[in-house]
Amino acid sequence: QVRVRFAPSPTGYLHLGGLRTALYNFLYARHLGGKFLLRIEDTDQTRLVPGASERLVEDLLWAGIEIDEGPGFGGNLGPYVQSHRTQIYSQAIEKLLENGTAYRCFCTERRLDLLRKEALRIRQVPRYDNKCRNLTAAEIDSLLAKETPHCIRFKLTEHEEPLEDLIYGKVHHNVSDNEGDPVVMKSDQFPTYHFANVVDDHLMGITHVLRGVEWQISTTKHLLLYKAFGWQPPKFGHLPLLVNADGTKLSKRQGDIGIQYFRQRGYFPQALVNYVVSAGGGFEHKANAKQQLLSMQELSEQFHIERVNSHPSRLNPEQLDDLNRLEIAQRLSGVESRLKLVNQVHELVKKAYPQHSNLDLAEGHIVDVLNWSSRRLTLLQDLTSSKLSFLWVKPSNFQLTDLTSEQLIGLLNVLQTDQDFNKDGLNIKLKTFAQGENIKFPLMMKSLRAALSGLNEGPGVAEMMEILGKSVTLERIREAVP
Ligand code: GLU
Repeated sequence: QVRVRFAPSPTGYLHLGGLRTALYNFLYARHLGGKFLLRIEDTDQTRLVPGASERLVEDLLWAGIEIDEGPGFGGNLGPYVQSHRTQIYSQAIEKLLENGTAYRCFCTERRLDLLRKEALRIRQVPRYDNKCRNLTAAEIDSLLAKETPHCIRFKLTEHEEPLEDLIYGKVHHNVSDNEGDPVVMKSDQFPTYHFANVVDDHLMGITHVLRGVEWQISTTKHLLLYKAFGWQPPKFGHLPLLVNADGTKLSKRQGDIGIQYFRQRGYFPQALVNYVVSAGGGFEHKANAKQQLLSMQELSEQFHIERVNSHPSRLNPEQLDDLNRLEIAQRLSGVESRLKLVNQVHELVKKAYPQHSNLDLAEGHIVDVLNWSSRRLTLLQDLTSSKLSFLWVKPSNFQLTDLTSEQLIGLLNVLQTDQDFNKDGLNIKLKTFAQGENIKFPLMMKSLRAALSGLNEGPGVAEMMEILGKSVTLERIREAVP
């Protein structure tokens, strides 16, 4: 059975890159009837952000990702939080010390620092010189007897066979020529990323590791660790970098890329999901074809890891807006989803105008508004922008002084008798009325627009009337009679 995992470090909140990694893993598991695990990699205790794990989980669930095993989600191979697994790592490290693939390193911070400085002085990349590889058993015993602080390092060798990457094909990274032996267990008994990651992937029965390409260079090291343990490694697939439309790196400085940011702005989860996965491909049909928003089920059915592109995945924010508009239109076409949408708008409007007690929030009105705006509406929140507040709130104290009272009463009568109250018919009626009364048409429309919405510009007056409906239109005009 396929078992994949998402293994974030709670050093920050979930962002687009993390969401994409989680999604590809989740879709892969769902496609093959496997399991999706969540593992929290919190061994670097100095970089923890309080509350980050909880928020990560919350964001994953919001996006529609279901966790089969993980902290708080059950599973027999936990704990799924690395800081709760220190005993497991201590046992595992013994195995490597025994078979001679790892060793204790007693080098002091001071020595390591000197090494670093010397390398930089002669313009070389600093690396540990593997000095403690050569300690004798007697030396080690005596240092241990004195309780000398030490860490444990892994003996790097060359990994002859290239990595068979599910996305990149054959990849070869030379490790032992470029790096000193890496620390696998720090002096505080906490494992480092490489070690804990390998031990956990093995013990949790992970069959496929799908992660960002920034980890690809570590994978050779991981393969060496699997070898040292005598374990069968999982298969690896590295996901290309997620970049901006112009190819530059995504960074927090270019607007926010955190999932919370998109949530707060009101994007729908499925729009964000389609946006993030479509950038890298991997699907039978193009997930970003404009008229199509795929459900999680459809995405998982169509997903093939070998189809993910190996070149950087470009994100185009306009596409996210298109997808969100599409999502609104799709929701509007289903009975149940429409009702949910109506409730959402109801809540949004109530929140946006807390001081108004008589907002126009009838279900029929909200549906009309949604139908009217659906092609143009990117975010539901846009419905409460100042340009559209006339939809919900009557403009304050406007007086229609450009028309006489008699004219206004005449106009009200004309509107009153209009059965359909649609914009085309209304337009003709308004024109005819202006002609008959000898009123300048543009002036009349300007006054009416102000009476109905308080705006100087915006949607056509007849269009406004149609969307407000007869009774609200008449009421607003009546109230504007001086
Ligand atoms: N903890 C690593 C991260 O934060 C996990 C990398 C991996 O998936 O192996 O991305």
